Amino acid sequence: MRRVRLRGRSRGDHHTVRPTPWVLLSRTPREGVRTPVNCSCCGNERVTAALRSRDDVAICRECLEWLLGQIGVSSTPTLPVADMPEAVAFYERAGFGVRMYTDDQDEDGGFAFVDYDGQSVFDLDAVPDMDRGANRAGCYLITKDADGWHARMAAAALPVTPLEDQPWGMREFTLTDPSGNHVRIGRGVDSSV
Ligand SMILES: [Zn+2]
Repeated sequence: MRRVRLRGRSRGDHHTVRPTPWVLLSRTPREGVRTPVNCSCCGNERVTAALRSRDDVAICRECLEWLLGQIGVSSTPTLPVADMPEAVAFYERAGFGVRMYTDDQDEDGGFAFVDYDGQSVFDLDAVPDMDRGANRAGCYLITKDADGWHARMAAAALPVTPLEDQPWGMREFTLTDPSGNHVRIGRGVDSSV
């Protein structure tokens, strides 16, 4: 495994946090229809989520990422892929953003960062001689909008299993990439949508 430089996460302009005018959230019962409002932390007009206890405080993803970095731990798995251009095309088709890591020393096909809406979800590492059929790697993505993700990927004719409520309390499906990685995507059955 090659060493890859740790990515610096954008910290935003937290040193210039300023109070923002009270802005009404455009609320809708359907996930996926979100209207940008001014973030209570950075003040930028972004898609935000309000605090459960105070719906006048709405935070954008970038500020939330910064806040999460202050406590606990976050994780980004690395998935092996047999053919990097094939994998990049696949994940872009699935709605992700893919950014190649360029390394002059790299001779085995590359490394890439996969994000969704700017948030890191997993990385890809080229392993040209891997056995696709024997690959058991994968990861689990939790998103409140699992139904919307499933619809989007099914519409793109990607290999997804049916979206189903599972005995372990998740409503989920599995996306299998051309290298045999299983990306499971779901949300809690009881979580409100
Ligand atoms: Zn913000």
